[in-house]
Amino acid sequence: HVLTHWVPLLDNGELQGVVAVFHDITDLTKLENIRRDFVANVSHELRTPVTVIKGYAETLLDSLMESDPERARKFIEIILSHSERLAALIGDLLTLSQLEAGNMNLEQATVRPEQVAKHTMELLEPKAAQKRIAVDCSGVEGAPAVIADPGRLEQVMVNLLDNAIKYTPEGGSISFTVKADNGMVRIGVKDTGPGIPAKDLPRLFERFYRVDAARSRNEGGTGLGLSIVKHIIQLHGGTVGVESEPGKGSEFWFTLKQA
Ligand code: ADP
Repeated sequence: HVLTHWVPLLDNGELQGVVAVFHDITDLTKLENIRRDFVANVSHELRTPVTVIKGYAETLLDSLMESDPERARKFIEIILSHSERLAALIGDLLTLSQLEAGNMNLEQATVRPEQVAKHTMELLEPKAAQKRIAVDCSGVEGAPAVIADPGRLEQVMVNLLDNAIKYTPEGGSISFTVKADNGMVRIGVKDTGPGIPAKDLPRLFERFYRVDAARSRNEGGTGLGLSIVKHIIQLHGGTVGVESEPGKGSEFWFTLKQA
């Protein structure tokens, strides 16, 4: 893409000639497209829950409150669940925009992965228990310490463990893996879930990219979790990745500097 300016050369108000200036705006156009897609996605994601909340609240107000308290209760539950979805989406969007604006100051602490993993597990244990999913933390026990912002590292682990629980069917299992190599520590969250088709793997960490959008929404997913993970890890100078095969489960991993 080329943007052209014509600049007149004037001498005492008399036209002497014209200079053509060419700018290569390929990168700008790309950025603008990304921005436009993002805004379109955000609007789309926000519209559904708002429409649902509005519709159910109106029906409640109009008639159900007195005539049919049982249905009223069901509607209130739907309103609540969609409000929660909106709140999660807005929270994730705020985190992403902070990450992208570069105004997230990272703390550089020495952190033991075992501690963060165990804390994360305590947070998500009830959710795993509901689906009778066993989470095995033994792989991360005694893992080498890393340099990281403890709060952000927890956010990364919460996102990965939460996904593993969301997408793994009842009775499945999840484990942590750790490898230290070349000054970096690789931490993985491995599940016995459905796995992911090879064609989707390269795009998984993109904003709003989902293998199965209906399934993700059903599980309260925002489509932003993995892009937040990638951003946080990149800010730490690490990398993220996934190994997965349909029918064989997935392992999402990231690396951080060893302390
Ligand atoms: P979401 O809120 O949809 O979970 P994420 O960015 O966290 O958004 O993940 C993007 C998509 O990657 C998910 O919608 C899902 O299709 C896929 N995914 C993530 N984690 C797993 C997993 N452990 N097993 C299978 N698919 C997964």
